[in-house]
Order: sequence, then structure tokens, then C-alpha cells
Amino acid sequence: MLSSRVRLVATTARLVHSQIYSSSRSFMDLKALLCSLNDFASLSFAESWDNVGLLVEPSPPHTVNTLFLTNDLTEEVMEEALQKKADLILSYHPPIFRPMKRITWKTWKERLVIRALENRVGIYSPHTAYDAAPQGVNSWLAKGLGVCTSRPIHPSKAPDYPTEGTHRVEFSVTHTQDLDKVVSSLKEIAGVSVTSFSARADDEEQTRLSLNCTQQALMQVVAFLSQNRQFYQKTEILSLEKVIKDILCYSAVLFDKFICKKHKVVMKALLVSCFLYREESPVKVVALCAGSGSSVLQGTDADLYLTGEMSHHDVLDAASQGISVILCEHSNTERGFLSDLRDMLHAHLENKINIILSETDRDPLHVI
Ligand SMILES: [Zn+2]
Repeated sequence: MLSSRVRLVATTARLVHSQIYSSSRSFMDLKALLCSLNDFASLSFAESWDNVGLLVEPSPPHTVNTLFLTNDLTEEVMEEALQKKADLILSYHPPIFRPMKRITWKTWKERLVIRALENRVGIYSPHTAYDAAPQGVNSWLAKGLGVCTSRPIHPSKAPDYPTEGTHRVEFSVTHTQDLDKVVSSLKEIAGVSVTSFSARADDEEQTRLSLNCTQQALMQVVAFLSQNRQFYQKTEILSLEKVIKDILCYSAVLFDKFICKKHKVVMKALLVSCFLYREESPVKVVALCAGSGSSVLQGTDADLYLTGEMSHHDVLDAASQGISVILCEHSNTERGFLSDLRDMLHAHLENKINIILSETDRDPLHVI
């Protein structure tokens, strides 16, 4: 029955589906691993401008014994990944962003692709999907601030982020001719809105249907699917209610004198290499953003902006409004998340594969 294939997770924003993992204890098929990574943090929460997911794929079948985590995939990091026999590199920042017109030995990004394919190593990037995940980068960054409450500053700009419903259900319609029948049956359920469906040009050429629904309607949707299993496959159910957007604002209990007395703790927690703040300002509300926070923090009412980098003029703007600024260098606000990620993925993947952290990955800027 459906209930044995699909688990509902009501308290976290995890994507749950019927994918069955490889039975091997030391390998996972790449496709199964990608499904499981999507369970951990759905790529649908990435920003529309981003380039996330599987960016380099060795010819199938491809099995993964070692997953290699890095913040940035430089040539030095690639060399380390190859030495350590990585089968898949998870690079938080996408090493391919702008379209490539050729793959030659001329530029370092092209060389990365060549090295990866010649050595049968896949490259996967989650980037802003992990920023938005409840257990993601911004949540990790906030840990350095101690106990505090939080809320998103901006709503997610993800293209298919729902405006209604508490759950999203996605599945593939087995036969295209059944699509109208399935859609009209589901639309009859109160609280269901079909958000999109399209013929996917993947290897199985199936039609993918996506709908948002209320908690109450979800039970009816599941019942419909359960009674009509011939119509669909590859079901995914996503609970949307606990999704954290990409930015957090902290209203903290302990922030009076926090910066003056505890900034060394913050620095240690975040590996801060550079900071600027106004000592005379009491800090009660912190707006934080991993990476480059200028545009997203601009105009936010807070005592302190905490981010990786801001332009000189944006810092001046903040200072003119009495807002303190801590700048940690871009990737110092991101990289530390990877050790948390390794532990979470070990548990999520049930220790089926090796997961290792890069030792050569580091911020390119050093304060001397
Ligand atoms: Zn970044």
C-alpha cells in the first residue's frame, strides 16, 4: 500500500518519496543518492537565478562509494578529491555558473569539467537550496550567536515556492492519456491547487504532476493515489510549513554587550578573519546572511549585520543608520557548515557511503 512506500514528515521540510536505496552497504547508485540528497533539502527551494543540482555526470551507471564535500571546487580541491578517490563531489558553490561554449584546457573551470569526466567523478551543487533549508547554512551561522529566536527577513524567491497549501505532492503519471482524468479527479478535492505539470524530457519521458494542498486535503490526495496506483509512480510529498527562507533575523536575549564581551567566541565559531563594529551600539537584533549579504540585508532594521562580505559603500550606508557590521570574508560564513552537513548526511544516508571533507578548501582571502 501507499503508506508502506511513502512516509509523511509533518515537522520538517524534507522531501519524502518511494525511492529504494541500493542494497550495497558501501555503494549507492548515483540516481538513488541524488534522490536522497533531494530528500535532505529539496532543490526546488533554490533561487531562480541559481545553478543547482547535478552539474557534471559521468556516463551511467555510476556508483558512489565516496562523497567529497567542499565549499568551493578549485583545481587544488579537485586534485585532493581525485587523490581521495571521490565518486561525487558536493560543492556548495556551483563551479559551473555561466554557460560554457567549449570545454578545453584553457580555463580552470573547463579543466575542472575535463578532470571530473576523465576520472569519472560527478559534481553536484546545492547552493541556495541549502541556504533555505531549516537545517542549512544560515541556521548553522546563527548557532555562533547562541540562544536566540529567529524569523526570515525576506520571502523565498524560489520560482515554484507555493503561496498556498501546507504540502506539495509530486508524482509521475504513468500514461500521458490518463493525465486529464487524474488532474480533474484531484481538482475536485477541496484545498487542492495543481501548480504545474509538464512532459519531462528525461530518460523515461514521463509527465510530472505537481500540486499544493492543505493538510486536510493531503489525506484525500493520498487516498486517491492509493486507490489508483496504476496512474502514477515516483511520488514525493513535501511538508512546506517549516521551510526557512534564505535569510534570518535574530532577536536575541543575550545581545547586550555581546559584541564587546563575546566577539572572540563569535570569531572562533565562525572562523572570522575580519570584522568591523561600533562598540557603543547595544546589539539586540542581528540580521545575518551567509556569503554576500549586501543586497539582501540592505534596508533591514537591525542593530547588527553579520555576513561574509559587503561593499564599502553599503557598509557606509549601514553605519550612517547606526547599524554595526561584522564581515567574516565570504566563505568563512559558509564552510563551517560542511562538518555539520557531513554528520547529518551520514545519518540521512544511514552510513551507506563514505563522506569526507576537503582539507584544502579555504577562503581565497587571508588577513595578514
Ligand atoms: Zn557564497
